[in-house]
Amino acid sequence: MSWACALAADERLAAYDFGPDHPFQAGRLEAGLSLLRAAGVLDDADLLAFGPAADADLELVHDRAYLAALARFSSDPAPADPTGAARFGLVGDNRPFPGMEAAARLVAGATVASLDAVAAGDLVHVFAPVAGLHHARRDRAVGFCLVNDIAVAIARCTRAWPLRVLYVDLDAHHGDGVQAAFYDDPRVCTVSLHETGRYLFPGSGEVHELGRPPGTGRSVNVPLEPGTGDDGVLAAFDAVVEPLAAAFRPDLLVTQNGCDGHADDPLSDLAMSLRGFRALARRLHRLAHRHCQGRWVATGGGGYDLGRVVPRAWALLWSELSGRRLPSRTTSGWREPRRRGRRAGAGARELEERNQRTVRAVRRLVLPPAVRVVYPLARRRAGGPGRLPGWEPRAGGYLAPGGPLVLRDRCPASLLRRLEVDPGIHAFVRAPEQQREVLARIAEEPTGEVVVAHTPEGVVVGYVAVLDPEPGTRFSSLPGLLEVGAIEVASGWRRGGVAGALLRFAVEPDPFEDLILIASGLAWHWDLDQSGLPAVAYRRVLRRVFEFAGFESLRTDEPEIAYHPANLFVARIGSRVPPARRALFTSRLVRATGGPTAGTPPDAVP
Ligand SMILES: [Zn+2]
Ligand SMILES: [Zn+2]
Repeated sequence: MSWACALAADERLAAYDFGPDHPFQAGRLEAGLSLLRAAGVLDDADLLAFGPAADADLELVHDRAYLAALARFSSDPAPADPTGAARFGLVGDNRPFPGMEAAARLVAGATVASLDAVAAGDLVHVFAPVAGLHHARRDRAVGFCLVNDIAVAIARCTRAWPLRVLYVDLDAHHGDGVQAAFYDDPRVCTVSLHETGRYLFPGSGEVHELGRPPGTGRSVNVPLEPGTGDDGVLAAFDAVVEPLAAAFRPDLLVTQNGCDGHADDPLSDLAMSLRGFRALARRLHRLAHRHCQGRWVATGGGGYDLGRVVPRAWALLWSELSGRRLPSRTTSGWREPRRRGRRAGAGARELEERNQRTVRAVRRLVLPPAVRVVYPLARRRAGGPGRLPGWEPRAGGYLAPGGPLVLRDRCPASLLRRLEVDPGIHAFVRAPEQQREVLARIAEEPTGEVVVAHTPEGVVVGYVAVLDPEPGTRFSSLPGLLEVGAIEVASGWRRGGVAGALLRFAVEPDPFEDLILIASGLAWHWDLDQSGLPAVAYRRVLRRVFEFAGFESLRTDEPEIAYHPANLFVARIGSRVPPARRALFTSRLVRATGGPTAGTPPDAVP
């Protein structure tokens, strides 16, 4: 599966060394690479040539004043005026050392050369072990990171090529510096799985750090509980990263494979093992080939158990990426005892439940609903046919400005697979083939139905997905409640009333009178990008579409909706819904007692 791989590191990088009593020291390079050479999976022909990063590249991410300070304190590490150094973060854990500027430039140069080679198609996978300094900021050193080599390389690469980059950060610490560098950039999606900042440096990386327009939704954070082991990290990865890649459509995968989440690492409280790192490497490799034509640059990131963990984690990653098998004599004795979680019984269950809640919130915030359905959190039990016994397949018509449309509800997967999908439908995966498959798979879900608008020639230009609400959400356990999980009209068919007509058609049949229908969230931002509208204007359009179909805007303190004023929550309570069920629904809108429950005028929200 792999070809044209390289490793970007050599002994010059040992110069990045804060000293013998510091967790980040020259010994990491020697410890890591000597095992690869001893195992016979690395020789000089595998090494990628690189030089120091140029000023022009560093300045894409860093201020000139900071770069000048790096140079100044590099030649004078014990300055007469230490407060001058502290202003740039060059103090404490990031204290200046002789030659630090050249060393930092070399690290950045290795990552730049790696991304350049992969973007140009000269190499498919590159591993840069002494790289991944993900904390460094525009104007200061942070957390052993003097320059942000990852941000520099991505910034250079996205200027030279029209690439969309997916950055996956698996270090135990939040990838705050890379996130900050691309916080408003829609072409770079940063995902960080890390130990929650409640207890660990750098303190950030909360679920609601989602980016800024026009990059809203492209910063993704999965803060995990202290004590989370392999299974918890892998479950979070599967639930978020793979579907996100399908929706984001990256051209290049860049990863930070810090191994400081290992149970033996002194700097974090995660409880991973080598087995988990190997499984993550496999998943990243598969993702690169599935979504990025193989293009993958992996960086080493953190990891502070130099004796056992770092060399083995690097060896596993290089073996996966290069396709070279480690000799069994090398790996014998690596099989660690399966760790019992640090907490047993109820504690472990609570940890798992907290992580699941976090993952659900992340999915609702960053995945388009259609993709969420295709990559379900867990297989839902089959609801069986006849959940809506009175809802018979119907067809209708709508004369749009672009031409006549056929409206169809309960569209079966077999029919969807014979239709085509208009390329102006965006909240889907990359290829038109896959777009059609997404719709077909929703139709196959026991809890989902698809209503489509298609041209007489059989091209789908709009759809509505009606679903059971996702398990674990506030409204999911209410009987007789369905969610309009997605509504979209192809960009070339908008402003002609198609969305309103389609939604009204979808929810007008009689059985819906016994049901409560809801729709919610910032889920719309995937489409918002393409609409050219500000969030508030887009929200107004959506509200109008839903009001046209009998929905009303309601206020709720459901955190995934309430955290942002541009979010929308609408509901339609069927005329035959019994009063007790209606009251149950209304009581769940707001959790705190005594607050307003419903009917708040939507215009009160800015
Ligand atoms: Zn490969
Ligand atoms: Zn770290």
